[in-house]
Amino acid sequence: MTSHVFGRSSAARPVAVRGEGCFIFDRDGKAYLDGSGGAAVSCLGHSDPDVRAAVHGQLDDLAFAHTGFFTSDAAETLSDLLIEHAPAGIDRAYLLSGGSEAVEAALKLARQYFLEIGEPGRHRVIARRQSYHGNTLGALAAGGNAWRREKYAPMLVETTHIEPCFEYRYRDDAESSPAYGQRAANALEDEIQRLGPDSVMAFIAEPVVGATAGAVPAVESYFKRIREICDKYGVLLILDEVMCGMGRTGTLFACEQDGISPDIVTIAKGLGAGYMPIGAMLCSDTIYDAIANGSGSFQHGHTYHGHPLAAAAGAAVLKAILDRDLLTRVKAQGALLAEMLDSRFGQHPHIGDLRGRGLFRGIELVADRADKTCFDPARKIHLKVKAAAMQEGLICYPAGGTVDGKHGDHVLLAPPYIISDDELEMLVTRLGRAIDTAIAQ
Ligand code: PMP
Repeated sequence: MTSHVFGRSSAARPVAVRGEGCFIFDRDGKAYLDGSGGAAVSCLGHSDPDVRAAVHGQLDDLAFAHTGFFTSDAAETLSDLLIEHAPAGIDRAYLLSGGSEAVEAALKLARQYFLEIGEPGRHRVIARRQSYHGNTLGALAAGGNAWRREKYAPMLVETTHIEPCFEYRYRDDAESSPAYGQRAANALEDEIQRLGPDSVMAFIAEPVVGATAGAVPAVESYFKRIREICDKYGVLLILDEVMCGMGRTGTLFACEQDGISPDIVTIAKGLGAGYMPIGAMLCSDTIYDAIANGSGSFQHGHTYHGHPLAAAAGAAVLKAILDRDLLTRVKAQGALLAEMLDSRFGQHPHIGDLRGRGLFRGIELVADRADKTCFDPARKIHLKVKAAAMQEGLICYPAGGTVDGKHGDHVLLAPPYIISDDELEMLVTRLGRAIDTAIAQ
């Protein structure tokens, strides 16, 4: 079929017509187990009755009211719930339509904050080489994914990138994990000093790196040291939890497991769970008050900021996560998935690393397990895994790319929180076959 939908891929794709639980069905009736929630989006599966009812109810009452004139019950309910359950020191919510918008807003809020407190020289952002923060120009500039940035480089504002915290690839054999975490974090201090502390506005990082790395958490000591460095130099810490937030790792915010609070945090994907496009930027009262007591308002806004229908979906998703105790379930099913992956791939000659937290898991594919050599990028192993998985009836999220010549193909798994034991078994069986088929090609 000729498709006039301007897609992200030129490859032919099946037409999705129906979703039920952890499955999506195409027009020919083929069922695909959603092993990655699309791209870590569909955390409640595809037919949640409560979210559907909430969206239908809101649509019947009020579809839209512009935030220049009104707030809405849905936006207030969602914001209250988010703040009630957010990390300590996060006091305000700003609702948007997705992850890139949330990151753009975070960067602009940081800049306006420093203008309000009389530090106009602070405009620089430091990020990490192995990161993705969105595709709009500001978020793309922050991200450290070389191939996504390449074509747009002249249009991207200056951002410098330090090394990621990625134990499998960067820890020296003789080094302990905590020592490695300190060393990796100290790269931020070096960079702040190099740029001049008075010029640095923010450091942005994903607590568990998603799209560019395949569920890579930082080692235990890393973010504590990052927090110390940010405090020492008055640099704002922005955590991008667009992919790893909203319970994906077993806590509502991934940074809870790192024992720190950010100044600003962005969320999206699991917030709307795919039922509505929604994202949010949350920030501290310190930032909010500086603006409220200064020029009076955040100089930002989108037409669909605080959209009632999206907010109703977000509130219903968050209530479902909390009321059904899905965080406990994510921890249990995540541990089971990790165990199954270990037994299927733990000794596999082409699997170098299994990692992640909760139902956010990464599998690193290597040509040689002993010396961690990557596959030749020309083989595009990750694309072959994706195609073979679709044949098998499995949606997973493989990606490739090289950072510092060290990072190769990986598969990201992020199934719905409601996934059953049998479905996890099916996921690992189908994935195993897809990986073996791809490598044999
Ligand atoms: N930040 C992170 C960490 C992401 O994973 C993504 C999306 N993959 C984004 C930002 C951008 O979100 P969106 O695609 O909703 O604009």
